[in-house]
Amino acid sequence: MNQIDKRKREIEERIATACERAGRERSSVQVIAVTKSISTERTEDVVRAGYTQLGENRPEGLMEKGAHFLKGAVDWHFIGNVQSRRVKDIIPHAQVIHSLQTLSVAKQIESRAEQVIDCFVQVNASEEDSKSGLAVDEVRPFIEQLQSFEHLRVVGLMTMAPLTEDEAIIRQTFRTLATLQREIEALQLEHAPCHFLSMGMSNDFEIAIEEGATHIRIGTALVGSESEGSL
Ligand SMILES: *Cc1c(COP(=O)(O)O)cnc(C)c1O
Repeated sequence: MNQIDKRKREIEERIATACERAGRERSSVQVIAVTKSISTERTEDVVRAGYTQLGENRPEGLMEKGAHFLKGAVDWHFIGNVQSRRVKDIIPHAQVIHSLQTLSVAKQIESRAEQVIDCFVQVNASEEDSKSGLAVDEVRPFIEQLQSFEHLRVVGLMTMAPLTEDEAIIRQTFRTLATLQREIEALQLEHAPCHFLSMGMSNDFEIAIEEGATHIRIGTALVGSESEGSL
């Protein structure tokens, strides 16, 4: 068994336990394997291990890996900061964008996409100064502005929790996002069904699952970190 298979087994156990604690079905949580720190070659191991939903945070990584894998074999999730001028590089490869937060990027998507792109709106739910994402009270007006956009569907909200050992702070951040997601879902906007919650990473995905995450983005726990060397 290679390292990725071994780590996958550990992660699956942790997901199953968290789902059980939360009274949720395992199938209600989708894992996005974040491959941003590994080569295309090692990404093949991730795909061989059975992951079909992969995440990249830089256009370069997405373009290289997106071109490498057969279209349809994997879905690419773009999870990094999106610049307007890079939208043209991202949308040929990405099925989902997790980090929409500006109208200028939305306009680029609208004018360049040939099919509907599923987007999560990124929220600074912890309200840290340094964090990207819209402030909580900016989210609804932002989404309402996208009503006439035909190539963009707001499928959910995304956040990153603060880097802290304090579980209560992490949990509160996820709760804030979940509350906001339910509020927007309840508006029943055609362009923004907003059913999903993209939250939880290697260090906090169990808390995220307990708080309702539907998409967890896992990098290090699956692929290791640079400093660990080769697998
Ligand atoms: C890198 C990254 C992840 C994965 O982080 P890990 O801690 O390595 O699991 C998830 N989401 C975003 C937005 C990232 O940039």
